[in-house]
Amino acid sequence: MTVSHDTLDAFRAEIDGVRVYDDPKMVAARSRDYFWYSPILDAELDGLAGDIVVMPEDEDEVKRVAAAAARHGLPVTLRGGGTGNYGQCVPLEGGVILDITRLNKVIEIGEGRVRVQAGMRISRLEEAVAESGQMLNMFPSTKRTATIGGFISGGSGGIGSLRHGMLADGGNVSYIRVVTVEPEPRVIELEGDDTLKVQHAYGTNGIITALDFALSPATDWLHAIALFDGYDVALRFATKAQAEGLDCFLMTPVERRFAPFYKRLEGLFPPDRDAVFTMVAPEAAEEFARRVAEAGGTISLQKPLAEIEAAGLPPAWECGWNHTTLQALKHEPGVWTYLQVAYPRPFDPDLVMAQMRRYGDEVYFHHEMARMDGEIQIFALPLVRWTSRARIYEIIDELESTDGCTVFDPHVVTIEDGGMKEIDTAQIAFKKLADPRGLMNPGKTRGWTADMAAQ
Ligand SMILES: Cc1cc2nc3c(=O)[nH]c(=O)nc-3n(C[C@H](O)[C@H](O)[C@H](O)COP(=O)(O)OP(=O)(O)OC[C@H]3O[C@@H](n4cnc5c(N)ncnc54)[C@H](O)[C@@H]3O)c2cc1C
Repeated sequence: MTVSHDTLDAFRAEIDGVRVYDDPKMVAARSRDYFWYSPILDAELDGLAGDIVVMPEDEDEVKRVAAAAARHGLPVTLRGGGTGNYGQCVPLEGGVILDITRLNKVIEIGEGRVRVQAGMRISRLEEAVAESGQMLNMFPSTKRTATIGGFISGGSGGIGSLRHGMLADGGNVSYIRVVTVEPEPRVIELEGDDTLKVQHAYGTNGIITALDFALSPATDWLHAIALFDGYDVALRFATKAQAEGLDCFLMTPVERRFAPFYKRLEGLFPPDRDAVFTMVAPEAAEEFARRVAEAGGTISLQKPLAEIEAAGLPPAWECGWNHTTLQALKHEPGVWTYLQVAYPRPFDPDLVMAQMRRYGDEVYFHHEMARMDGEIQIFALPLVRWTSRARIYEIIDELESTDGCTVFDPHVVTIEDGGMKEIDTAQIAFKKLADPRGLMNPGKTRGWTADMAAQ
């Protein structure tokens, strides 16, 4: 308990009628996310918890919660599905956990975009837009649990980013509606590039209640695994296919040492081959097969989603991005952690081979391909054998200073120390409007200092 009983009672009285939970077990569970991927964050954040969970059912209730929190000076930490990896949902200073998942309705589906409440689960949203013959431009591999608002606030891109760019790239998010945290909360509507003021801000500068997300015509992607003899061959196959425009929604090279972690793919991803997991357009299937054969590979699986699910196999998106890390952490808990690495352009597979030689059994590699500013960008989410904090930072330093990579450090809680690298002054300026008292997810941005808070 970090807030006095009297304050909490007064807060509760003001939001009478809003769903509230104060059972300590429930509050503790809703104060966590997937920060345990990092042994460093696990040690720092384990046990931190809010004081109360509130679950408003509409924007009016959100405003009442925001008003009461502002009047009583209570910290407010937003929570969607709680699948973030960096402790984004962990309240560092206690207070109110605002679970947004009851704001879960589609507002309007149009041609090329959907307006949706922020707490809707992404897989439910997908089902809804599928009825209009469309699909989301991208989604995280956690889509069954994650919310669309949490994706915008905590994520960066995912399955589909190869075709449509990252979340922040033009047009993917074209409208965001925000409730401010003040005694008299306001609604602020952001459009176009202005939405960047709150994207990937970890819920530090306004409560997102609704947003517009881009859609494209639905495609029944083929989930395929291509196998190659050599990780360099797999990487060269993937980069050439993308440079020459093979139509894919996902393309994920994974080296053979991951094979034992993919239990459900036994035989389809054998330990003596390196894999490329893809979601390839049905019209491009022939070209895909020709390219795989040309590179000396074989296709061990190629089916549409319905057949993949009927066969009890994992869809390709559960074989990529941070699901790859999850496979390893589930099978060898405590042994592994991970990093997030962006490679210099143009991508050189020989650099990866040199890294594999340098780290041997300490680091296993898996790569993701995405489009950034219209160009192909290669990322890695390598598994790193956990020994110590010092060793993690030695590796980060080598990857950056020797190899010219950029590491998005997943072992830190602030926006700037992780992906963003620098303080986004536009986001901080917006925080002054949307959270003038500095109550939202305190401690998650270095751009905000206590003296900036309005009294
Ligand atoms: C196995 C695994 C795979 C993943 N794959 C991907 C991936 O492919 N791409 C990717 O980008 N990420 C990925 N992630 C990270 C995470 O799953 C996604 O970013 C996800 O979309 C977060 O959604 P969520 O609802 O769980 O958000 P939460 O974890 O609940 O919240 C994330 C952040 O957003 C804030 N927030 C939530 N809702 C709101 C709101 N309405 N208004 C303001 N702030 C809000 C929270 O306070 C928190 O800071 C992965 C994580 C795991 C564990």
